[in-house]
Amino acid sequence: MRRAETLTKAYKINNNSHQHRIIMKSIRELYRIGIGPSSSHTMGPRSAALTFVDRNKSAAKIQTTLYGSLAATGKGHLTDKAIIDSIEPHVPVEIIWQPTVFLPFHPNGMKFEAFDENGNVTDSWTVYSVGGGQLADENGPISSGAESPDVYSMSTMTEILEWCQKYGRSYWEYVDECESPEIWDYLAEVWQTMREAIERGLDCEGVLPGPLNLPRRAATYHVRASGYKSNLQSRGLVFSYALAVSEENASGGKIVTAPTCGSCGVVPAVLYHLQKSREFSNARIYRALATAGLVGNIVKHNASISGAEVGCQGEVGVACAMAAAAANQLFGGSPAQIEYAAEMGLEHHLGMTCDPVCGLVQIPCIERNAYAAARALDANLYSAFTDGGHRVSFDRVVEVMKQTGHDLPSIYKETGEGGLARTWRE
Ligand code: SF4
Repeated sequence: MRRAETLTKAYKINNNSHQHRIIMKSIRELYRIGIGPSSSHTMGPRSAALTFVDRNKSAAKIQTTLYGSLAATGKGHLTDKAIIDSIEPHVPVEIIWQPTVFLPFHPNGMKFEAFDENGNVTDSWTVYSVGGGQLADENGPISSGAESPDVYSMSTMTEILEWCQKYGRSYWEYVDECESPEIWDYLAEVWQTMREAIERGLDCEGVLPGPLNLPRRAATYHVRASGYKSNLQSRGLVFSYALAVSEENASGGKIVTAPTCGSCGVVPAVLYHLQKSREFSNARIYRALATAGLVGNIVKHNASISGAEVGCQGEVGVACAMAAAAANQLFGGSPAQIEYAAEMGLEHHLGMTCDPVCGLVQIPCIERNAYAAARALDANLYSAFTDGGHRVSFDRVVEVMKQTGHDLPSIYKETGEGGLARTWRE
């Protein structure tokens, strides 16, 4: 029996309340390496389209109907391109946009239908892109076949914190105990991809794709920040790293969801900055990524990381919590301090809406990543000044985030109908 199973079993025996755990997936499911600009609007639909066309290669035509949020902001997020690029090499495809029709299960619904030469429907599949590139139907998450099995027997921060304190461990050790040993190779690949996105982004100048004609800013921020004295320079460099990754994402570059494409700049910016300024080894960065992944996974499992479901608090808010926990661990925080840093990262993003201008992952998304990276470092510092004791637990904030997200009107959940998106149109 593996050490994790032994320890967890011993823990369960001594804690009856922990006997009925809901199983949680590998952090590989959270950190997906892929092409931007949107995990829910690009990666998820691309994966669904590939699955459907694979089983209908002899169809005369495939029709894809996009519903709700997927249809409302799908053009800006390149959803149609992701689907057409996946299906059209095999079968002609037609896209139908239904932005005002919300299927009850999730706001990001899609229906794929295959037709024969007489116009008869030969296959039909309704599927949902539920965030972070994950697909689901009414029965729950759908495995793409490449997905990893469930590996975690504990799915809340409270119980994992208790485990850490009981056994004198840290969060990354819980990851190490539960995942297969290959997780460290995977995290090395994740870190390599994150670093490359920063370095490419810092090198690129010009305008981002789309009608906003938004200039890339990472290179300028980086150059200007380098001219300041160290305390201002530090903040400017963090901004530049987050901008670099988010701009790469907005232009369809290769990034890692952390936890989503729209929020992919926060974790790499914080870790890259800390590695460069404090010379943390790669091994310590991988452990920080493991803890950050666990934080994001807990939210994904118990609430949502989908902007269409809970607003931007579930994307950039969760990214901030992940980065805050990772930073706190790197600076030697205790499990309680790490939990506190993650809690503040999320708590102070509660209620944050998703209102992308023109449906593009650009305004407010790109700047928002830079701000959240700075806030993650603040949350780390704030927690470091305490013994980790505080009133509102991370798990409670996750519950509140979920409820707040459900209470938000749909115009603030990736439909491009409210907030900044609406102001821009007007
Ligand atoms: S506003 Fe936030 S949730 Fe919405 S698309 Fe941008 S990053 Fe994603």
